[in-house]
Amino acid sequence: MKEKILVVEDEKDIIKMLEYNLKKEGFKVVSARDGEDALDMAVREYPDLVLLDLMLPGMDGLEVCKSLKKETKTALIPVIMLTAKSQESDKIVGLELGADDYITKPFSPRELIARIKAVLRRSSDKEKAPEIFNSGDLSVDFAKISVNVRNRPVELTAKEFELLRTLLKAKGRVLSRDYLLDSIWGYDHAIEIQTRTVDVHVRTLRKKLRSAAKMIITVKNYGYKFEAEEE
Ligand code: CA
Repeated sequence: MKEKILVVEDEKDIIKMLEYNLKKEGFKVVSARDGEDALDMAVREYPDLVLLDLMLPGMDGLEVCKSLKKETKTALIPVIMLTAKSQESDKIVGLELGADDYITKPFSPRELIARIKAVLRRSSDKEKAPEIFNSGDLSVDFAKISVNVRNRPVELTAKEFELLRTLLKAKGRVLSRDYLLDSIWGYDHAIEIQTRTVDVHVRTLRKKLRSAAKMIITVKNYGYKFEAEEE
């Protein structure tokens, strides 16, 4: 099956160059000229990867990245940012917002294709996640819905388990509070359930995980991520 790439760029010549090179490699290409269009197309076309220029008219690339990662429907689509040398700091912000990689202009088509293939490979490995997760003191069996810390069972509520599972499956990617809220509590949650609900659950989850709690990292003013311990 041909993988579909959404190119978000406002400069016609660059779109043409990207389309030509991506199609030559056997990818299907769709393109958007601005941020709003990109968000619509990401939901409608559900691409396998988004190639996102940071310099866009109106809504800039960082905002687009943030929105893609916030929206449950698009949060797992990998994003590669196209940046200029002068945008070093944006690059870091972009990666913190959940972009998977970046490539600095000017780049060669070969370099671009190699990056795209590497990111696609990583994201398909992610889908084949094993049923058992082990890291440091923590062991999670997704099939049995059981959690152990230092070989002692931990009793989690259904929501706490979902929270842990969602963080683990994101493999180090930062997940926003809104994303966690939508994916765990759903869209039609009661009005009193708010983003601080996520914080409250993270707090109780950390308490229960004892020595393994430090793997859940707070990303200030944004959300959370899970960092597995090095073996
Ligand atoms: Ca541009």
